[in-house]
Amino acid sequence: MSEIREVAENVYLIDAEQDFIPNLTAAYFVNEDRKALIDAGPPNSATHILEGIKRLGVDPKEVSYIVVTHIHLDHAGGAGILIKEMPYAKVLVHPKGAKHLIDPSKLMAGNIQVMGQEVLVRYGSMVPIEPERVEAVDDSAVIELSSQQTLKVVHTPGHANHHLCIYEERNKGLFTGDAIGMYFAEAEFLFPETLPHDFDLRLALESIEKARQLPLEILYFAHFGTSRTPDKMLQMARDSLKFWSDLVYQARNDDPMSICEKVKEIIFALRPDEPEVVQQDRALYAIEKLLPVAVAGYLDYFRRVSEGKASQASQGN
Ligand SMILES: [Zn+2]
Repeated sequence: MSEIREVAENVYLIDAEQDFIPNLTAAYFVNEDRKALIDAGPPNSATHILEGIKRLGVDPKEVSYIVVTHIHLDHAGGAGILIKEMPYAKVLVHPKGAKHLIDPSKLMAGNIQVMGQEVLVRYGSMVPIEPERVEAVDDSAVIELSSQQTLKVVHTPGHANHHLCIYEERNKGLFTGDAIGMYFAEAEFLFPETLPHDFDLRLALESIEKARQLPLEILYFAHFGTSRTPDKMLQMARDSLKFWSDLVYQARNDDPMSICEKVKEIIFALRPDEPEVVQQDRALYAIEKLLPVAVAGYLDYFRRVSEGKASQASQGN
């Protein structure tokens, strides 16, 4: 049975159990007069998420919004399946992502190209959403859920150009999607999420600065859990993006596998006191599956900068 718990007033974390791994990917449910689901998990998690909502005593038909922080499979993948059970809901998405929710064929082809056919078994396949049920939301758009709760859209490109975060007023919280990184609460550690093709370091740093301007008391990470020290985490996100950038940049002419080994050694050396943390399933998952991707994302960004297709992050940030 999927885990669901209240993490702030009227905000619930639902474990999407992505790839059958607990504590890896979360969706959040904001339970007000009007109800919103923030992120939808991968397609295979849709039943977990529906079950989680029902366990709160809420009929999925009562849901007004599914807001996706971006259109990657682990965040928007389940939206097309979920919305069939939510006849009055709309899917809110960054303007650059809307057309891919209406026709996810390109997105799925890209996923298969990167992860192979096994992605269909491990994550599932996205279902198209009718155009009239998809709403592109601009930066600063406001969604009123009750007299006490308003959501505000904050465009935060960097992880991807179609990324947004959602600010919620009641608890002064931010649903961070993948803008801040992957969070390991036990170790207070952030793992950068820097995918090839999509990652832009300069934009990611600017988005973190934008988040720092908000009056924040809590961060809700899609991967995974919450932090009540938002300032510290945002500072850490900025520092770790730059730290990894320097590491990978200095080794950019080496073989990518040896860069991964180097980064791994440094990461482990930073946390000699936390052997149990790196033994966890999701930490091993991060290191085995995500580290090579993160390194490739930086290398790809440096290549795009050198080709004039992306702009360099300023040193002063
Ligand atoms: Zn993600």
